[in-house]
Amino acid sequence: MIPAAFEYLRPKTIPEAVALLQQHGDDAKILSGGQSLIPMMKLRLARPAVLIDINRIAGLSYIKEDGGFLKIGGLTREAELEASPVLSKYPLLLDTAHVIADPQVRNMATVGGNLAHGDPANDHPATMMALGAQIVATGSKGERVIPIDEFFVTLFTTALKHDEILTEIRIPIPPAKSGGAYVKLERKVGDFGTAAVAVQLTLDGGGAIQKIGIALTNAGPTPIRAKKAEDALRGKKPDAAAIAQAAQLASDDAQPGADLRGPVAYKKGLAKELTKRALAIALQRAGK
Ligand SMILES: Cc1cc2nc3c(=O)[nH]c(=O)nc-3n(C[C@H](O)[C@H](O)[C@H](O)COP(=O)(O)OP(=O)(O)OC[C@H]3O[C@@H](n4cnc5c(N)ncnc54)[C@H](O)[C@@H]3O)c2cc1C
Repeated sequence: MIPAAFEYLRPKTIPEAVALLQQHGDDAKILSGGQSLIPMMKLRLARPAVLIDINRIAGLSYIKEDGGFLKIGGLTREAELEASPVLSKYPLLLDTAHVIADPQVRNMATVGGNLAHGDPANDHPATMMALGAQIVATGSKGERVIPIDEFFVTLFTTALKHDEILTEIRIPIPPAKSGGAYVKLERKVGDFGTAAVAVQLTLDGGGAIQKIGIALTNAGPTPIRAKKAEDALRGKKPDAAAIAQAAQLASDDAQPGADLRGPVAYKKGLAKELTKRALAIALQRAGK
């Protein structure tokens, strides 16, 4: 299909892009990798009158550790994330980058676009939730930092204002004895997950779980933080019984809908099984 007609603008700086967003209001959409927006425009599910292409803005693509955070520029491509040597310290992010779509899509798609799209079937939202990330939004009033738990409002809706650009993602650098894992079940390679689970945890000196984040992909209108499962595991030695209980609690928190990928009971069962598997891998990586 062919998209409806639109005006195409290509700012070279963030202030210029923000001014254009203000000028065109709800008629405008930011274009990053175009891997979600262009298909939606072709299907005419999105009909922006103005496309503001931010790809020519310099300095928005980087992956670096700085000031206690891993900082990822909003325009960083998935393929760059996957190839970054820094990522070996962030197995949860690396697992995620490997299973997003296919290499062709990953060459174009950006991490910022993956989050800003607000699609609960996308993989980075749950990952960033488990990692306790912060989102940096830049608009007419400068920068503001949004905790990831406040970022996803509802289906395809985030806390970004219409004149704000997602410019950076900040992930706290995990301490020693930390591990993470992302486990996704997809119908075929390159597909969105039928369900997926992100786990990030830190063990204390005695082997108990000191810090934990668990989040579910494609299990509701937003990525879902499995709070009850986190609470059940925090402070505990993760034996088989504790893991089984946490997996059940994560499944209880899942609110998937039935669709072509399967009925609700199947998806809730998946959330349980994938939580168990992600916890086992994360614990192994944390050095248990
Ligand atoms: C064949 C195929 C398979 C896919 N499979 C997966 C998958 O398995 N897992 C997965 O997670 N995703 C998947 N996707 C979706 C896609 O990869 C992601 O949504 C993508 O990362 C979006 O990033 P983008 O840079 O292409 O965003 P765009 O398509 O350019 O933009 C998406 C939305 O975000 C807004 N936006 C983009 N960047 C910013 C910014 N910096 N600040 C504010 N708003 C912004 C745009 O205005 C638009 O509304 C798939 C896509 C395709 C085509």
